[in-house]
Amino acid sequence: MDKVHWQQQIDILQAIADHSGAVIGAKDLAGHYVYVNQQYSRLFNRPVQDFIGKTDEDLFSAETAQQFRRADQLAQQSSVAISVEERVEVNGIALEFLSLKFPIRDQQGQLFATGLVAADISKLKELQRQLQSLADHDPLTRCYNRRRILEIAEVHLKKARRYQQDFSILLFDLDHFKHINDVYGHAIGDQVLVGFAERVQSELRKPDDFGRIGGEEFIALLPDTNAHSALALAERIRLKIADWQFAALKGSRLTTCIGIAEFSLQLQRMDELSAAADHALYQAKAQGRNCVRMY
Ligand code: GH3
Ligand code: MG
Ligand code: MG
Repeated sequence: MDKVHWQQQIDILQAIADHSGAVIGAKDLAGHYVYVNQQYSRLFNRPVQDFIGKTDEDLFSAETAQQFRRADQLAQQSSVAISVEERVEVNGIALEFLSLKFPIRDQQGQLFATGLVAADISKLKELQRQLQSLADHDPLTRCYNRRRILEIAEVHLKKARRYQQDFSILLFDLDHFKHINDVYGHAIGDQVLVGFAERVQSELRKPDDFGRIGGEEFIALLPDTNAHSALALAERIRLKIADWQFAALKGSRLTTCIGIAEFSLQLQRMDELSAAADHALYQAKAQGRNCVRMY
């Protein structure tokens, strides 16, 4: 085939742009649209001609326009494409895009426009959030799982070390839980775990975190809390659990032991704090259960 005519070159590029499935556009240096593909026009439900000569400020909310413009400016200063994640509300639905933004230069190397190629990654992002949530939470009680709560503990500890802030942990172990399973069945045991987690969490403050670290063992992380306040909270929780009348237990009560440890010069790392709280918990068990002990 002979060399294609320049008009055919344009037709080829146009077809590629329109069939790529990507959202494609270009703006001059002042931010006026000079090109959008069909996908772009479909996305915002406006004919292509509606975009040409307009700026993002004319077309979108101030916040969205500002977000676009910042990325455009970065792309203009760059020699290669930059990649940004952008959130856009379209007809009341928040969409997320992975956008490549790049400088467009003429034959003499003079910058005259910025281009963008964006892919709608909303579904992927949603899936990613769901997977992350599954990876971070215990499926039964929906509180954090062991891996995640220990990760969060490290963040709290870092702050406590850096800013010399108080930090305490509560370690919970349900009393005679094996007995509950044996007498009422595993399904009731599961419901007890769910109810326990709900009741403890209802006593915690917003900055506190709560997670399941083992079968019937849980942990609460209490930033900005000294051992004294932690003790008061632990007592409150202990009583709340002991007062809980769970119909399925037919009159018998659930109780818990709680071990407390406070961040200090001697207990700086999570393994040290956990061991201390575990030691206190062991003493609580030895004391006859339904009991709070501080390390
Ligand atoms: P103690 O007062 O000394 O803590 O006695 P305990 O019976 O609570 O302690 P033990 O560690 O012997 O038993 C814990 C039980 O928790 C055993 C296990 O079957 C049960 N368990 C662990 N995970 C789950 C769960 O997800 N669901 C149910 N229903 N039971 C669980
Ligand atoms: Mg146990
Ligand atoms: Mg137990």
